[in-house]
Amino acid sequence: MTETLGAAKTISASGYDITPLPRAERDRLAAKLTPEERHILLDHGTERPFCGALLDNHEKGVYACRLCGLPLFRSGEKFESGTGWPSFYQPFDEAHIRSIDDHSLFMTRTEIRCARCDSHLGHVFPDGPGPDGLRYCINSASLEFKKGEGK
Ligand SMILES: [Zn+2]
Repeated sequence: MTETLGAAKTISASGYDITPLPRAERDRLAAKLTPEERHILLDHGTERPFCGALLDNHEKGVYACRLCGLPLFRSGEKFESGTGWPSFYQPFDEAHIRSIDDHSLFMTRTEIRCARCDSHLGHVFPDGPGPDGLRYCINSASLEFKKGEGK
């Protein structure tokens, strides 16, 4: 007898299911967001600098996607960039983030989205302090901080 497993799942190196969320599930999760969160995550908005709730958060934990809960960044890789948005020099797992060329505002930037639910997170710039020289500039509203989780 063969077992039917349904659609194949994609599991990241860190052990998380990153299979793209079906549209209906994404809509269900989006219904719980505030209007500001929805604007940023779904309409690719950007919150004003220096007012995000997680900018000055120095507690240890994991920053997960606000919509689907996928871990995206760790507190140990957060740094003070002076830009006014929470900044990280590397992601929790490369496979948890998708990069897209963004040609809006008359410049070329790299937009980053959650690999599982496709929500907008922020942008990545090539001037970070880490080994890869990257700076992930993220909206607080795109993240949910889970205190004490991760390393
Ligand atoms: Zn997500």
